[in-house]
Amino acid sequence: MALLSISEPGQSPRRSHANKHALGIDLGTTNSLVASASPDGPKVITNEDGCELLPSVVAYSKNKILVGQLALNSAEQISSVKRLMGRGSSDIKHKLSYTLTNAESGGMPLIETSAGLKSPVEVSAEILKVLAAQGKQYLNAEIDGVVITVPAYFDEAQRQATKDAARIADLNVLRLLSEPTAAAVAYGLDKKLEGNVIIFDLGGGTFDVSLMRLEKGVFEVLATGGDTALGGDDFDRAIMHWVQEQSQIELQQEQIAELSSIARNAKHVLTEEQTVEIKFSAWSGVLSREHYYQLIDPLIQQTLKACRRVLRDASMEISDITDVVMVGGSTRSPRVQEKVESFFQRSLLNEIDPDQVVALGAAIQADILVGNKYDNDLLLLDVNPLSLGIETMGSLVEKIIPRNTTIPVSRAQDFTTFKDGQTVMSLHVLQGERELVEDCRSLAKFELCGIPPMVAGAAVIRVSFQVDADGLLSVEAEEQSSGVKSSIVVKPSFGLEEKEIEAMILASHREAEHDRDLRRLKENEVEALRIIEAIKSALAQDAELLDEAELKSLQQGLSTLEEALKSDDADLIQQHSEALNELSVTFAARRMDSQIKTAFKGKKLEEVDR
Ligand code: ADP
Ligand code: MG
Repeated sequence: MALLSISEPGQSPRRSHANKHALGIDLGTTNSLVASASPDGPKVITNEDGCELLPSVVAYSKNKILVGQLALNSAEQISSVKRLMGRGSSDIKHKLSYTLTNAESGGMPLIETSAGLKSPVEVSAEILKVLAAQGKQYLNAEIDGVVITVPAYFDEAQRQATKDAARIADLNVLRLLSEPTAAAVAYGLDKKLEGNVIIFDLGGGTFDVSLMRLEKGVFEVLATGGDTALGGDDFDRAIMHWVQEQSQIELQQEQIAELSSIARNAKHVLTEEQTVEIKFSAWSGVLSREHYYQLIDPLIQQTLKACRRVLRDASMEISDITDVVMVGGSTRSPRVQEKVESFFQRSLLNEIDPDQVVALGAAIQADILVGNKYDNDLLLLDVNPLSLGIETMGSLVEKIIPRNTTIPVSRAQDFTTFKDGQTVMSLHVLQGERELVEDCRSLAKFELCGIPPMVAGAAVIRVSFQVDADGLLSVEAEEQSSGVKSSIVVKPSFGLEEKEIEAMILASHREAEHDRDLRRLKENEVEALRIIEAIKSALAQDAELLDEAELKSLQQGLSTLEEALKSDDADLIQQHSEALNELSVTFAARRMDSQIKTAFKGKKLEEVDR
């Protein structure tokens, strides 16, 4: 700490010393923004035309690359590339206005352009380059680091793809920050002692809702939900349908774009006015707010349903919520505000421009992370959206990091070998909520080799899972006596839709009872096999310790249990396992005796004593 710090009057001392330059970037599906923090607060940086929003659109031609507004007029524009980040072709179900090829890079399909094949990561990098250049010009300095926002539910692959794009754009990523966290930071909610915050983000094509817990300046994302196919575009479509119904016009393909833009304009007017006059072709009519609200209320209901689910996921009541933050252009609609306000029974935080709020929060965070700290030590926590675990015997999944655990996190669990002399262990990393491997999502497989040969169950293999602040998962397996280890960093090549995450969680609720029964059966089977294996191996070595009758009864027990194993009856298997275990007690004791005798043979007592 400096004993004496000299500064100009009215200027913060921190600013007069070597100040670092950082940017906050909201890399959006439709639009992107860049912002920077200044002593007077964070500001969105405009381009030379004074525009804040850079359309997230790129167009490649033979010798130049157009980005943003400039690309919007090109016939060959690539839009919504965010939806392709970290995804395999089989994950991409929505319609695209450009062509994906069979060629892949990093598990992502490549896009056909006039300038050759481009990966979604490269396209994203072009958007980042333009935003960074805008920032660099405004600050008139090199950029030391950036914070880029991503949806809270982005998985490891999607986050890694975003980081790769930043690397191509030659940017130093201080951190990826989840969008809801950024919005909460913009409202300064970190200054509050504690609270439970809802971030309601309704954009053009997507809806995200997050519930965050904050305590003494620490944020924690408790639960996320939403719908990747619900947004303002659906409001537009509702108006389009109404126009079609009223006008009885047979809509031609080439009129769709025109009607869509008419509908959107009408929607924007209804944000301010009670009625709007709509003209389309030769038809004209008046749409009232009242009627418009009837059209969109079912859509708003869907957002509230997702809010209810998020509350339930976090085991909270509406009365536990202390703040509701509105994000995304569609939250400008008074009907959306009214419905959300009455659902949560409190006034909304909506005074910051809903388009800017995420970028502004990112800028504040970037400024702190780059080292320009004020009095503020903000620690941000995010959440792991689906459970992470490992395959165990019987094709069961052992969860190591449960879903909705705050990240970064590291957890370890010990496993052991199943067979005598086993030197290799296969590790299969899985994601999901179900009990069986086949119902979860496979992330990676690797092997731990060189385990010293030991009897089954003697080796201790510690499997550690670590998820870093950016959601990247590293898994390490280490045999404790020899220290041999093996590890993997998981970059799953296929991403997940928020919808699929939701579907996986719902399935786990629906199948819970069935899964529990199945798990018990599998566990009993594994235990039975373990006993059979152990007794057979003991018999192979020491059968002479038993008399004929004893041997016969043990063999009888073995075959009864093997028979029971075919039954799929958990109780029966357990019963016969216990019986066989009981039968083998004398045998085990005799083997122990005999081993001790062998060990002592030819040794004097004093020697043995040591
Ligand atoms: P995204 O996050 O999908 O990029 P935005 O957050 O930029 O989307 O929101 C875009 C949506 O917000 C569009 O559907 C647009 O019509 C809607 N929108 C913007 N301004 C208004 C307004 N004044 N009233 C109603 N909807 C609006
Ligand atoms: Mg948005």
